[in-house]
Formats: sequence, structure tokens, C-alpha cells
Amino acid sequence: MNKAAILGGGLCGSLLAVILARRGIGIDLLDRLPDPRVKGSSGGRSINLAMSARGLHALQYADILGVIEPLLVPMRGRFVHVDDGSTEFHAYGQFDDELIYSVSRAALNRALIDSADRFSNVQVRFQQEAIAYDPERATLKIRDHSVDEEHTLSAQPLLAADGAGSIVRRAYNGSDRIHTTEDLLAHGYKELSISAGPGGAFRLKSDALHIWPRGGFMLIALPNPGGDFTLTLFLPNEGPQSFSALENDKDVADFFAKHFPDVVDLIDDLTGTWASNPTGILGSVHTQPWHDSGDMLLLGDAAHAILPFHGQGMNLAFEDCVVLDEAIVAVITETANMTPGELRSEHWDEIFRRYEARQMGNANAIATMAQENYIEMRDTVRQPKHQLQKDLAFELERRLPQRFIPRYSMVMFHADIPYQAAQQRGNIQQELLECWTEHANSLDDIDLETAEAEAKEHLPPLPATG
Ligand SMILES: Cc1cc2nc3c(=O)[nH]c(=O)nc-3n(C[C@H](O)[C@H](O)[C@H](O)COP(=O)(O)OP(=O)(O)OC[C@H]3O[C@@H](n4cnc5c(N)ncnc54)[C@H](O)[C@@H]3O)c2cc1C
Repeated sequence: MNKAAILGGGLCGSLLAVILARRGIGIDLLDRLPDPRVKGSSGGRSINLAMSARGLHALQYADILGVIEPLLVPMRGRFVHVDDGSTEFHAYGQFDDELIYSVSRAALNRALIDSADRFSNVQVRFQQEAIAYDPERATLKIRDHSVDEEHTLSAQPLLAADGAGSIVRRAYNGSDRIHTTEDLLAHGYKELSISAGPGGAFRLKSDALHIWPRGGFMLIALPNPGGDFTLTLFLPNEGPQSFSALENDKDVADFFAKHFPDVVDLIDDLTGTWASNPTGILGSVHTQPWHDSGDMLLLGDAAHAILPFHGQGMNLAFEDCVVLDEAIVAVITETANMTPGELRSEHWDEIFRRYEARQMGNANAIATMAQENYIEMRDTVRQPKHQLQKDLAFELERRLPQRFIPRYSMVMFHADIPYQAAQQRGNIQQELLECWTEHANSLDDIDLETAEAEAKEHLPPLPATG
């Protein structure tokens, strides 16, 4: 039986291994790091992540949602800490099941690897670092750190889920087969924490994502199951209010006391953690195409790293796994008497084409929406018209549930509405909302019957929503 190699046992690679193993495909899953189940997490990017409908759908598709559910902490909305000291709660959605979930990256990754490892047709190997990829021969050069040896791996096909800095993708730099742009944001991030109170009590409201929007920068906090919070400060790298301007402990302490006075005293060893935690870089990756014949496919961040401001990078990577599997099923179904283990290079080429045709527009759409959401999170949530437009959008969703769903809700709660459709409909809706609220201060100032009629005129019904 043919075996596929998955490079990268991160979030995308390990879920992909589960899904393809269930399909009956033999998998060699390789990661450069030691087994996180043995060694513990080595830390790194973002301690916790927001999981929403697309991620949950993929876990259900893989039949492992039950394993992951105990790791999830529900968040109902944004708890906004305004700079005048007041606070506001903004629900993400308007229906009881419209929640997103905070999850520890390390715990999630461990559970996914464990799930993959239970399949007899999956071989999980750690400390296997790809140090080169040869696109001509479709071979990976692997350094096996467990025995300090190098060997060559020939995979049919290679599914590269080796993250934003993908060595496989970079092997195509300068070639005309795969084109990539890597854009760095002029803002970085730093992670801090708030420990649980006595008896594991949360010291901030537990079922919310906390946000301190400050215009050019923001602080956010996500709850963890143990009662602690992970904080992330997003800040320009250069300029008057920037990482480079915070040169010493006093600068850091003064900056937090000035901009985040209601939380500064809760932060664990602010200046010590500031000094010891790295400043993370933020960026996005655009690649086209994502595959090289039937030999190689890029998935997850390796294909399309996006900014984290819509909480969708992992959700998109999980959706990739489902879309790829659906393309495999389609090709197998059309090819009589074939089993998944018999897929050959020409079949994989067809699978990769179909996968790309369905998913590339979606990845581009959420990349743009993630950029826009940064401005909304750090700034727009503070503007009065923002809340009025949100209230109006909810009102229209109640009146026209098959036509008008707020863009945020389409992205976060409706896995069956493609990102691209959410973006297109969202743009139309935003224009309408701005027009209807231009001279209004409250919902009472808006002619809702006219708004409803205009929404019907501009927005075709959604095929189906769930
Ligand atoms: C600050 C921040 C906050 C975020 N918040 C969210 C959020 O709230 N919600 C959300 O959905 N997404 C979020 N994301 C995005 C999310 O982290 C990524 O989209 C997701 O991790 C992508 O998964 P991946 O498996 O493609 O890549 P990764 O998680 O990066 O995994 C890549 C794997 O490949 C391995 N690897 C790399 N190179 C090699 C090599 N040469 N040889 C062998 N193995 C290799 C690595 O060890 C790793 O295990 C956030 C990102 C950041 C930076």
C-alpha cells in the first residue's frame, strides 16, 4: 500500500493524519520536535487559541470532538475595558449556541497526536527535522536528531504542514512553479499571564475574551481551564508607543500603569515575564499554487499563514484537512474499484487541483478579513456607530435569518458558509449598515421595514445555514 508523508505534527498535520488514517491511507507523520506528550510543550507561539465552528466541525468530521471537548473554555463575547475605566460586554452572537472556545495549543496538539498515534496505519516519528526538499526528485532530506543521522525520504505524496516558515515551500523560492510572498506586519506581540485565584478561581470574567483596545495597540486575555488567563499585547515594533520604546523595566511598568491600570496588578511578574518572553513576529504568507503535480501539497500555515486577529488560522488549517479528504473521496468515487491505498501520482494531482480550486479563494478571503479585524478590535469597537450597526445587524438577522447574518457570525459560527461567501456578503451588508445608520443614533431612528426590504433586494438567500 502507498504511504503518504505528512511533514509537521502541529495542529494541521496531526489532525490530517487522523482524517486520512480513517480513510485508510497509510501515513508517515514527521516532526522536528521531541514528542510533546513525553517532554511537555516547548512553548513558542500563542499559548492558547480561539476555536470556532470550522475547527469544531473538522474535529467532529474526524470523530474526535469528544476527546477535545474537555479542553475547551467557552467565551460568549468580548469584555471590553475602555480607556476611561468603564467596561462593556459585547456578545459575539445573539443565540445561545453562538460561542467560541479558548483552548491550550499544547494540550490540543498533544490530544491530536495521541489520536493519530492510535491508528495502526499511522507511524508518528519525532525529532525528524526536514533540512532540505528537492522538488525535482520529490525527496526530503531528514536529520534524525534521536540518533544524529541524516537520511533521504521519498514520499508519495508529501503533505507539507510544516508551518509558516515551511522549508518545503521555501525550496521553491526562485522557481516558476510556486510563487510565494511573505509579508511581515509592523506590529509584534508579547505574551503575559494572570494566575488563577484561590481555589482555581478566575480573576477576570471567565466566559469572555477580554480586550483593552487602545487605538494603535491592544491587550487581550483568554481564559484557560485552570482559572488562569493568557494575555497578549499587540503593539507596533517601532515608534513612540512600541516595543522598541519600552527599553527597561520602568518603561514597561509605566506603560502598563498608564494604559491598563485595571489589570496591571493582576499580571504575574510583569517586568520579569516581559524580559524573559520573546517578542513574537506577525505576518502572512500568500502562495500560489499550493501543489506541485501529484508529488507535494502545502497545507495550513505552510500554504497560507494569516494574521491572528480573527482567530481563524487554526480553524482554516482544520478546514483544509476536511476539504482535502472530500476531494480524495470525490476522486476515489469517480475511479471505479480503487481503494485509498491505491491512489497514484496522477490521482493525487487531480485531488490537489480540486482541493485548491475550493480552498484558495477561502484562504485569501479570511486573510483579508483577519487584517480588517485588527482595526476593528483595536479601534472600531470603541466607536459608538459600531454598536448601533451591530444591534441593527442582529435585528435583521432575527427578521431575515436566511439572508442577513452578521459577517462575524458567518465566519465564526457557520462552518457551512465558505469564507469567500462571508466576505462577499459581508461587504454588501457593511455598505447597507453604514447607509442605514448614517443619520441614526439608535434603532428607533431607523426604518426597519425599509431596511428589511433593501436587504432582500441586495442579498440573495443563503443556500442553507446551520
Ligand atoms: C499570536 C497568535 C495567535 C493565534 N491565535 C489563533 C486563534 O485564536 N485561533 C486560530 O484559529 N488560530 C490562531 N493562530 C494561528 C494558528 O496558530 C496557526 O494557524 C496554526 O498553528 C497552523 O497550524 P499548522 O499545523 O499549519 O502550523 P504549526 O502549528 O506551526 O505547526 C507546524 C509543525 O511543523 C513542524 N515543523 C516545522 N518545520 C519543520 C521541519 N523543517 N521539519 C519537521 N517538522 C517541522 C513544527 O515543529 C510544528 O509542529 C494564532 C497565531 C499566532 C501567532
